[in-house]
Amino acid sequence: MKIKEYRSQFIQELLSTYDEGEAESFFYLILEDKHQLKRIDLVLDPELVFLEDEMALWNSILEQLKLEIPIQYLLGRTSFYGLDFEVNENVLIPRPETEELVEWIIQSSRSEVGNKKLKVLDIGTGSGCIAISLAKNIPNAEVYAIDVSEKALATAKRNATLNQVNVTFIIQNILETEDLNQQFDIIISNPPYVRNLEKQEIKKNVLENEPHLALFVEDDDALIFYKKIAALAQKNLLDNGQLFFEINQYLGKDMFELLEKLKFKGIELRKDIYGNDRMMRGAI
Ligand code: GLN
Repeated sequence: MKIKEYRSQFIQELLSTYDEGEAESFFYLILEDKHQLKRIDLVLDPELVFLEDEMALWNSILEQLKLEIPIQYLLGRTSFYGLDFEVNENVLIPRPETEELVEWIIQSSRSEVGNKKLKVLDIGTGSGCIAISLAKNIPNAEVYAIDVSEKALATAKRNATLNQVNVTFIIQNILETEDLNQQFDIIISNPPYVRNLEKQEIKKNVLENEPHLALFVEDDDALIFYKKIAALAQKNLLDNGQLFFEINQYLGKDMFELLEKLKFKGIELRKDIYGNDRMMRGAI
């Protein structure tokens, strides 16, 4: 079948689940990933065709898209902060809000610390997107990353190799950690923060496909990870060391109070591009 004809059919079939722009962008993402062809190639050669087995592959992807399996998992990769990352069902798909957090950390590490070596720790690294982007963009950084999931860490390690950076990965349950036994200049975490009570707001594609271990916390102890990590930061941050968090948009005030109570200095709460309270910083 001519690719052009298949494109119309493919987009048409997705219209009950996605809007047209999104369906079209899926088509071109797959075309590039599976055939190394771009939109312009179809314009230049309108006679291009899919062979029988290629159509079978496309149809199976189409069926999975109809089930709202995220395109990033279907292709096994995504991009974050301009870098390529492998993703799979063991790790969250990196979010644009998290790119904003990374940008904040990179900017503040440039303006405030100059050229001395920076020891950086990312807690709950998942795909490794935060740790790896920082290692790539802060030349003097020595980056460590912790996760409780062996499968997530294996993915993060492959992503460090893919992006040619050095990150020391550590398998560890942070909730069972009393001391990190090292001092850091910067500690970052984007831990699980979605309360069960917010489940009805979570889209089906997220709820049914992304790892719940990385997303959810109990309603009555939503800040469990933040309390633990802030306490560890008090112990394991160097003087003037900084703690950065991605946070639940509804818990900005509670988070501010938590860091205030623990005597963090220069506490700052920032909104993301969508206007939601999304990230914080505090210094020791
Ligand atoms: N921002 C993610 C979401 O809304 C949640 C990330 C997290 O729990 N750390 O799906």
